[in-house]
Amino acid sequence: MSILSNSLAQADIETALHPYTDARAHAEHGPLVITRGEGVHVFDEAGKQYIEGLAGLWSVGVGFNEQRLVEAAHRQMQALPYYHSFAHKAHEPSIRLAEKLVEMSPENLTRVFFTNSGSEANDTVVKMLWYMNNALGRPEKKKFLARAKGYHGITVASGSLTGLPANHRDFDLPAIPVSHLSCPHFYRFGAEGESEAGFTARLLAEAEERILAEGPETIAGFIGEPLMAAGGVMPPPEGYWPGIEALCRKYDIVLIADEVINGFGRLGSSFGAVHYGFTPDIMVTSKQLTSSYMPLAAILFSEAIFDAIADNSHKIGTFGHGFTASGHPVATAVGLENLKIIEERDLIGNAARMGALMHRQLAPLADHPLVGEVRGTGLIAGIELVADKPARTPFDPARKVGIKAFEIGHEEGLICRNTGDTLALCPPMIVTEDDVERITARMTRIVERTWDWVRAERLVG
Ligand code: PMP
Repeated sequence: MSILSNSLAQADIETALHPYTDARAHAEHGPLVITRGEGVHVFDEAGKQYIEGLAGLWSVGVGFNEQRLVEAAHRQMQALPYYHSFAHKAHEPSIRLAEKLVEMSPENLTRVFFTNSGSEANDTVVKMLWYMNNALGRPEKKKFLARAKGYHGITVASGSLTGLPANHRDFDLPAIPVSHLSCPHFYRFGAEGESEAGFTARLLAEAEERILAEGPETIAGFIGEPLMAAGGVMPPPEGYWPGIEALCRKYDIVLIADEVINGFGRLGSSFGAVHYGFTPDIMVTSKQLTSSYMPLAAILFSEAIFDAIADNSHKIGTFGHGFTASGHPVATAVGLENLKIIEERDLIGNAARMGALMHRQLAPLADHPLVGEVRGTGLIAGIELVADKPARTPFDPARKVGIKAFEIGHEEGLICRNTGDTLALCPPMIVTEDDVERITARMTRIVERTWDWVRAERLVG
């Protein structure tokens, strides 16, 4: 390690509180300082190359050195580095990006609101629906339905919608009225002897019972990721989304698709909702919107929701919500260029083709004694490691098997992410056949090495 790296690591240990990190362990472990990126690769300060198998945080669609995005940012910085959208102001990049988003999205989504992050976007959705329902004279219609293991962010409202214990524990969340339904993951939560169709029917019956128990007149919205990503890469069972959509229509509940990871091609379709054949009233997008080169999220919503909010803003005199950087010109200019690249290079088609290849090459892992399930669709995959394959028994979380595999990944030059003992892959959408082969070969090696470790530690019988 160089003197510079030592001082950087030391400075980090002495100053930072890291997101999603055990802060005490960090003092021992230290940071992995990443210094540059190139295509699907990133490099650490010692010059070691890694394939970024998770595209950063499920987000760098176009890879790590796309010059067109650098130039778009530079051009916009020179023309107008900052302006806002409050009180009738506007600027071209946010107008053009909103127009582009409406053009790309399902037809019923005609309006756009920008925030800086997915969490802020979901908090905004909560506030929009509260505002709307007050305006419509139904102030009791304020609750949300979400799912266990869903991920919607970490701010006060979005963190409440998230269904993961670590995001609630000791944060006094949930802090808004939300009811979490069962996680729709068949492998883990299907009952003994139950078919996938039977599982879907049971989940839909549960949802309807919950709606009736809470009272449909009290429920504002249902939020879900079309394919649940951060909670462990869990595709929905067949027929789930059309069934949920029908319930939302029957009971006048706004259907919100959280497309923060799914959107802009990740599943090999434009959006997750399109992939699974349902029409949301609201779609929340971020991450791949700018390939995370700039912080930006966009909420797309229907004309009916817009009308109710617009009328109320007229009555009150303002829609009293918005961020200093809502629709930031540099972020929206980069977003627009990024979406052009996704279209021009057919990265959605590439995600479908390379995703199919990735799943074909990962499929043999499903026979490995350490692997319970290999799942996902398009360019997203989850490999769940289990202690007892026939019984589907998970490892004791205290043994941190997933973290071990994640660390072996770094040694093998593949950055993935572990959610518990599920290893997630979500590589940049520019991957080539050669990249996919290297990713799946390294993942196979990670599973083999983790298996050796698990046996050496006597974690399996
Ligand atoms: N929704 C989903 C589906 C996400 O995956 C994430 C982030 N992983 C968020 C919302 C929150 O986005 P952010 O981290 O930008 O606040």
